[in-house]
Amino acid sequence: MSRVLSGTAIAAEIKREVAAEVAELASQGIRPTLAAVLVGNVAASQIYVRNKVKTCEELGLGSEMITPPASVTTEEMLALIAKLNADDAIDGILLQLPLPAQVDTKRLLEAVSPEKDVDGFHPINAGRIQSGQPGLAPCTPAGVIEILKRSGIPIAGQNAVVIGRSDIVGKPAAMLLLHQHATVTICHSKTRNLAEITRGADILVAAIGRAGFVTKEMVKPGATVIDVGINRITDHAEFEKFFAGDAKREALFAEKGSTIVGDVDPHAFEVAGAYTPVPGGVGPLTIAMLMANTVRAARMRRAVAGKSN
Ligand code: NDP
Repeated sequence: MSRVLSGTAIAAEIKREVAAEVAELASQGIRPTLAAVLVGNVAASQIYVRNKVKTCEELGLGSEMITPPASVTTEEMLALIAKLNADDAIDGILLQLPLPAQVDTKRLLEAVSPEKDVDGFHPINAGRIQSGQPGLAPCTPAGVIEILKRSGIPIAGQNAVVIGRSDIVGKPAAMLLLHQHATVTICHSKTRNLAEITRGADILVAAIGRAGFVTKEMVKPGATVIDVGINRITDHAEFEKFFAGDAKREALFAEKGSTIVGDVDPHAFEVAGAYTPVPGGVGPLTIAMLMANTVRAARMRRAVAGKSN
């Protein structure tokens, strides 16, 4: 029987720790505060941002939600970011992606002060992470490491294979695994003999964006499989391919007309030693790490020593 690594439980543990840190900082008159910028009316983004703001409230962090219209220009966004950078009450700035096509996303992400870049997307933070200096690591890859560590999965000396090389997930995940002394291989769409490589993985991280891409044949028996993917499927034939016989999912699928599947075919979990489910695996960690990063940013910027720096 494979072991389920519950991201929900680990995220709850991290959130409890963050809340305790926030309470301790409050006694020093500091309230870590996140500014979340939500542009336009993208429904999924609204849900994500509301969740982030709600979690801030639950843990005692301050939060501010700024909602420029969908027609906002790059210049207007740059002015907003400059104002938030200069605002001493703001510790973290989050630009909810995707931004509308007319704005220069890359330029805006680079305009966020690296000290307030709680998503860890700024090239300065990417460089700091790469060179092993204290910085703000992207939340999802940082969450992957927390899951492994807090589940007692050894990383040092293990063969870790990361499928995906995006700047926000694959590359930083590989870098963080390397810092934990794994032997890391990064795979992508041009990789040859992918299954051969993934079968050598003691730790397999899938960050591809393709529903059920990693099949049973690609997983070494006993490996730890971390499924970062979040893919919504609406086609019943596809549902059957992944979840035939799962009555609970079937009922939910019938009710909602869709379900979420990761980048790993759920049948592949059967051969794994341990795996993160979707949902309830890596997803919950992303928001928990955002909270942890906001506290960390507050401490670093205000030079307050603590657990997180
Ligand atoms: P990107 O689309 O930016 O990157 C996908 C990567 O997968 C690319 O490097 C691409 O290779 C690689 N890839 C695509 N097809 C193949 C293939 N056939 N074989 C091998 N590699 C392939 O996605 P993200 O990194 O942003 O996200 C990855 C997944 O993680 C998505 O499902 C996303 O929804 C999810 N996600 C989940 C989060 C969470 O909170 N749990 C947060 C962020 C993302 P190439 O570079 O060659 O094109």
